[in-house]
Amino acid sequence: SKVKVAINGYGTIGKRVADAVALQDDMEIIGISKTRPNFEAKTAAMKGYDIYTPADKIDSFKKDGYTIAGSVEDMIKAADIVVDCTPGKVGVSNKALYEKEGVKAIWQGGESKDIAPISFNSEANYADALGADYVRVVSCNTTGLCRVIYPLDQKYGVEKVRVTIVRRGGDPGDIKSGPIDALVLDPIKLPSHHGPDVKTIMPHINITSAAMKAPTSFMHLHVLNIQLKNECTADEVKNLFATRPRIQMIADGISATAQIIEYGRDLGRPRNDMWENCVFKESVSVDDGELYFFQAIHQESDVIPENVDAIRAMMSLEKDNLKSIEKTNKSMGIGI
Ligand code: NAD
Repeated sequence: SKVKVAINGYGTIGKRVADAVALQDDMEIIGISKTRPNFEAKTAAMKGYDIYTPADKIDSFKKDGYTIAGSVEDMIKAADIVVDCTPGKVGVSNKALYEKEGVKAIWQGGESKDIAPISFNSEANYADALGADYVRVVSCNTTGLCRVIYPLDQKYGVEKVRVTIVRRGGDPGDIKSGPIDALVLDPIKLPSHHGPDVKTIMPHINITSAAMKAPTSFMHLHVLNIQLKNECTADEVKNLFATRPRIQMIADGISATAQIIEYGRDLGRPRNDMWENCVFKESVSVDDGELYFFQAIHQESDVIPENVDAIRAMMSLEKDNLKSIEKTNKSMGIGI
């Protein structure tokens, strides 16, 4: 029988994880939770997901015409594993419930690294999560960094990574975040948390990072400078990246994040999601023995396939990470 997956928190990440899990043949969505009867609750109902709500909200949802399957506690009881996609720092308050019900749990990158003993990336440390009860799938930026640093370290050895991250101010549907017209140094105190977060997955990597927020909603942009232990050429790095399952080499006249999203639309991808790291092919260069390149990260979607792989590892459905990655990629249309 299929692994029973519950989605607690059905926002930007939760709705995408639900749709990705629903595409798998070894797992199924048994329900999603909503706290308010808004348009996302409406589309969840249209897609046929069972909707659960906090116990004290069931009546108000019913008054609005929803069929409610039960309380959030009922959903957790019915699940083998829950993917917590509540807003950052909210997920921690659900931990006691998951522990009480003996349900495995995945949290997202907005939670502190201490929430789970294992931080996860499909390529870099899948095996650590085999059979695990609690895992944190790292943030969109950390996921994007791991996907390029891991293969470079395997092939050439990484001496030191320096990255500057230009972060999107808010997601497209977000009407509260900003800035509207500024580049905000965030944090102003260096380094930013992104570098140390990579070390939760690859502790031996020497990395430092700086970050700012920009008035854009499409994607994050990483400016990378990497010292490698062994010499390589730009062409070798381009070829290495092209072989990785979740890196897309961006070319064909694209030199902006807006064009990548337009490309995603033209490809007919769901919600124009670009699940892969988008490495600007022409930017990859080696100068004075150091590697430089730009990559864009679609914050709303790059962690989604990692959540599917994390479920597969934790439920011991597949021991080989490359096989899980391939299965997830094929089902979602990643790499096409
Ligand atoms: P979001 O605000 O879009 O969605 C969160 C959802 O959870 C909302 O629907 C909200 O109503 C609901 N919710 C709030 N409190 C709840 C509770 N107590 N129980 C159940 N549901 C509750 O947030 P998001 O962007 O999807 O982020 C979720 C997590 O994923 C965070 O840890 C975030 O840091 C991380 N993440 C976000 C992005 C991104 O760019 N959006 C990327 C990677 C990781």
